[in-house]
Amino acid sequence: MIVDFHSHDFPDALAARAIAGMCRKTEGFLYPAGDGTLENHLDSMRLAGIDKAVLCQISTRPEHHAPLLRRARAIMDGEFGERARRMIIPFCSAHPADPDVAGHLREIRAAGVKGIKVHPYYQGFSLADPAVFPMFRAAADLGLVVTTHAGFDVGYPARRDACGPREIAILLRNVPGLKFVASHLGGCAGYAPHSTDELLELGCWIDTSALHRDWHKDEQIRLLRSWPSDRILFGTDFPWTDGREAVRWVSSIREKEDLDALFSKNAERLLG
Ligand SMILES: [Zn+2]
Repeated sequence: MIVDFHSHDFPDALAARAIAGMCRKTEGFLYPAGDGTLENHLDSMRLAGIDKAVLCQISTRPEHHAPLLRRARAIMDGEFGERARRMIIPFCSAHPADPDVAGHLREIRAAGVKGIKVHPYYQGFSLADPAVFPMFRAAADLGLVVTTHAGFDVGYPARRDACGPREIAILLRNVPGLKFVASHLGGCAGYAPHSTDELLELGCWIDTSALHRDWHKDEQIRLLRSWPSDRILFGTDFPWTDGREAVRWVSSIREKEDLDALFSKNAERLLG
């Protein structure tokens, strides 16, 4: 069993534009391994032997709440077919500029959605800003898992101040009990080696999606090799990496006896 804790796809009518937009914004640094559609995502999972994938939807504007929740419901209800219903675990999102963010988080929970994804650069906030703590407190009280983009982002090369290990630590100290996943190995790219280790004592999880394995390579491998196996979740960030290659990379670095935890057991425990 393999669960991918970090993946993306888009409604068919938007997929091509979304993928092209990301490629342009990152000046070619992101190079897609898929076309951004749900069907292509499912095909790619099958090829990689990935059984289930958390779909990370991001609201870049507050008014995206309703369409993202509608899409999550449609996937869970089987409107996109049995394969999608069985294989995709849709997450919704929360936007700090949404005046009814607490009410919308309750709607997400009531729909049976397990968690939310945030992306501070694309949503214009810092995880360390006290103004956003109530939003995360509300998510924690509802038992929602929160996953965040962490660290440097190729779309915002000049910034390091929204979701690095330091900002994540401030958030977790202020919102105890939050089930929190920091993507991209906790944001190892762009920070001093060992910065992410501060998050261990705060109960943070990290995912294995690493888009630029030739940058900070030693630190990426150190994190993947040395963090406790019960705090790492396999993630691809598909379509920005290929699932087969991501499975191979993690399997080649981590000891065999830890792989069950990384590939599925931890995700099952976190998602309940
Ligand atoms: Zn991602």
